[in-house]
Amino acid sequence: MVQTAIVTHSLSMRHDMGEFHPESPRRLDAINDRLIASGLMPYLLHYEADPVQRRHLERVHSPTHVENLLSVAPHHGIVHLDPDTAMNPYTVPAALGAAGAGTLAVDLVLKGQVQNAFCAVRPPGHHAEKERAMGFCFFNTVAVAALWALEYHGLERVAILDFDVHHGNGTENIFRDDPRVLFCSTFQHPFYPYQGAETISNHILNLPLQAGSDGAVFRQVLQQHCLPAFDAFAPQLVLISAGFDAHREDPLAELRLVESDFAWATQQMVHLAQRHCGGALVSTLEGGYNTNALGRCVTEHVRELAGL
Ligand SMILES: [Zn+2]
Repeated sequence: MVQTAIVTHSLSMRHDMGEFHPESPRRLDAINDRLIASGLMPYLLHYEADPVQRRHLERVHSPTHVENLLSVAPHHGIVHLDPDTAMNPYTVPAALGAAGAGTLAVDLVLKGQVQNAFCAVRPPGHHAEKERAMGFCFFNTVAVAALWALEYHGLERVAILDFDVHHGNGTENIFRDDPRVLFCSTFQHPFYPYQGAETISNHILNLPLQAGSDGAVFRQVLQQHCLPAFDAFAPQLVLISAGFDAHREDPLAELRLVESDFAWATQQMVHLAQRHCGGALVSTLEGGYNTNALGRCVTEHVRELAGL
């Protein structure tokens, strides 16, 4: 068994985009309930994150983007940024807390206080671009974590696997010209956000999957393209944008993964991290909108991280 941290932020539950929005606080309740029922909780080390500091956020996002979000944040009610993405009074504090969870998790792992960490936070982040909030995302948590590791901790190579069913356009946008990051995204295509499949870059590895693809296809694509590239890159830290909306029960998308596929992908990343960087790995929650399936998937993900 290895020491695995679970990093949370209390305001993650207060960000709410409306009763019928799929990216709801109920997702974290489902994860929490399932982790408790699984018996895994006593084996995890629990940490509560502070909000990320503005100057660390601005390694990733322009001051204008940060300022714009702060200025449109409502004092009461809900403000829509686009048809899918809305803010209530707790959205900015929750998004700052999610990014803070990312930097805390990196600190814990790189200082050797834990082996690896899972950030059970929302809102998600991987669609948030340098200058733009979109697709339920405001600040890009995994990008904040990566740049924290590179620029504060002085690492030179960070690998990010994004297995959310949607392309991680925000993360690609932020690291397009930064070869210190090897970014690999598996995603349903064509599908929201309708980009990624055409990118040509030797450090942005986009792996589009047709609607209906199952775990066998997903595993083959990772094994053939992602894992060899990650091994050649020899990362000093492995990050995961852990979205679970490629699950066959997810209401938003049409891939057909099951719990064991996410467990397998997690195990591959754990082994990769063991081969290259003493097991240093940080995972952060992205999508996953069938709450039952999400709870089960996260439990299997965390079980693999903890080696239980
Ligand atoms: Zn997604």
